[in-house]
Amino acid sequence: METCTIKSKDREAFIDVTSRIQEIITASGMQTGTCVLHVPHTTAAITVNEGADPSVASDILAYLAERVPHRGPYRHGEGNSDAHIKSTLVGVSQVLPVERGKLVLGTWQSIFFCEFDGPRSRRLHVQLVSHGEALGK
Ligand code: ZN
Repeated sequence: METCTIKSKDREAFIDVTSRIQEIITASGMQTGTCVLHVPHTTAAITVNEGADPSVASDILAYLAERVPHRGPYRHGEGNSDAHIKSTLVGVSQVLPVERGKLVLGTWQSIFFCEFDGPRSRRLHVQLVSHGEALGK
């Protein structure tokens, strides 16, 4: 398993990690298999959505901020309850297919690490499960 370090610069951000994940797959030499992505944090997440127009990521963050305000009548005392809720809504894992050594993504899709309580240094685990050449055909 590989672990990426992700440094966020703002409290909330969608950070495109597609090329970093693809580099790990390329370096592994895996042709056919499954890429498991896991965020080991309770106030961050990972998702797949449009990477071509950055307005989409901004709109999603704005949507979440409106529904889950930073300051609310929360019981958790750390002041980051909204980030915990957003992490659960978006999810901490993604599973993506790999074919011919490439992530299988739609034309407009990118993989985003979602920061909800930054800035801080985060980790993203990448586990590659090779299905073998014969099985993949
Ligand atoms: Zn907390």
